[in-house]
Amino acid sequence: MQENSTKTPVGVKFTDLGLSEPLLKAVAGQGYETPTPIQAEAIPAVLAGRDVMAAAQTGTGKTAGFTLPLLHLLTEDRPLPRFSGHRPVRCLIVTPTRELAAQVEESVKTYGGHLPLRTAVVFGGVNIKPQINKLRHGVDILVATPGRLLDLYGQGAVRFDKLEALVLDEADRMLDMGFIHDIKKILAVLPKRRQNLMFSATFSEEIRELARGLVNDPIEISVSPRNTTVDTVSQLVYPVDKGRKTDLLTHLIVEEQWYQALVFTRTKHGANRLAQKLEKSGIGAIAIHGNKSQNARTRALADFKAGKTQILVATDIAARGLDINDLPHVVNFDLPNVPEDYVHRIGRTGRAGKEGQALSLVCAEESRMLRDIEKLIRKSVERRTVSGFEPLEELNVAHPGPKMGGGRPGGRPGGRPGGGGRRRSGNRNSRPQGGGNRQRRNNY
Ligand code: AMP
Repeated sequence: MQENSTKTPVGVKFTDLGLSEPLLKAVAGQGYETPTPIQAEAIPAVLAGRDVMAAAQTGTGKTAGFTLPLLHLLTEDRPLPRFSGHRPVRCLIVTPTRELAAQVEESVKTYGGHLPLRTAVVFGGVNIKPQINKLRHGVDILVATPGRLLDLYGQGAVRFDKLEALVLDEADRMLDMGFIHDIKKILAVLPKRRQNLMFSATFSEEIRELARGLVNDPIEISVSPRNTTVDTVSQLVYPVDKGRKTDLLTHLIVEEQWYQALVFTRTKHGANRLAQKLEKSGIGAIAIHGNKSQNARTRALADFKAGKTQILVATDIAARGLDINDLPHVVNFDLPNVPEDYVHRIGRTGRAGKEGQALSLVCAEESRMLRDIEKLIRKSVERRTVSGFEPLEELNVAHPGPKMGGGRPGGRPGGRPGGGGRRRSGNRNSRPQGGGNRQRRNNY
């Protein structure tokens, strides 16, 4: 496997990458000035027809990293298919969640805005008929979640005999969500000769195993280390009772005179509630989540970036793609259900070598989540109790003592309670097996 390290070609411009004019125009329209590291590496590799295996988290610009070159290849040096009549799917992008599918489709439409290609998105939980109709009219690029895609295939609504490229986006999440069998079924019905791109936040053993049956002599790109938290981010856990989290957060914002913070909640409802409570305390806050229109989200983000809003409260899905420079504080108001999300969340501070603080307000019932997070990041996070906010119920996480702020490589902070997903011990890449996280799909 050929490996491209994290080094980014310095001074690379979009115009150096070999993309066609309509794509450069779309990129300029988005106001992007330079390619992100993943784009600088992935775009030439994909244009050269290579398979790619990229470790890149959300927020790195990975979507444009695969979309731009694929759009180029689909329109390069060939007569564009006629609009009437059957248009076979030539590019298939599979994503784990419908939110991501919708977002990727939006990106494809944005970047392909000056190209006469047809795009569609299909996912479960909605009426299948309009999707069948859309496919019947012919689609060049199909974005899909695995289950619905197989349904459509089973009903003869989609064929892949002219497929040229396959993208598996967030492959690690697909495995987390128990989609491995669906993925294998999909792979089995695709033509053997095709270009394969696999994007994953992490390269675990399971991902590599999946890759072995998928990519062919891939260029391997990695723009962020796996499940590591950067040293410029100081992490703290504030043990606190559940009902006192808002008061503690307010106290911290006021007492420590935070200029800005991004606060994560688990649910949309929780995000709304918290933003309202902060507003009532006189702290400028706004919530963004999946129920808000794209316009409202864009506006909220612009205000936050411009420093007009002090606190942005977000769910994990809504926070995808948030790229905010100089963000000093990230707060986990609720711990995420999926430990990897902790790494994604706190990666939004301490960027580009700047100092950042990641704080987690943790109540007793989140003890197990904290334990899973510490196991994943192989660190015990320093606990800090704030006077007046001491929890009545202690965290049930074995913790070696208040000095543990640094790493404890290989350490196993606390045992695992009974039940839960099967894990392979001793492997830092271990993750729950099977469909343990299926439910989380609709929470955002
Ligand atoms: P992604 O990692 O694909 O979810 O993208 C993260 C965010 O970065 C999206 O909001 C994109 O609009 C934005 N983005 C992608 N490429 C660039 C770029 N070259 N310069 C600035 N922003 C970008």
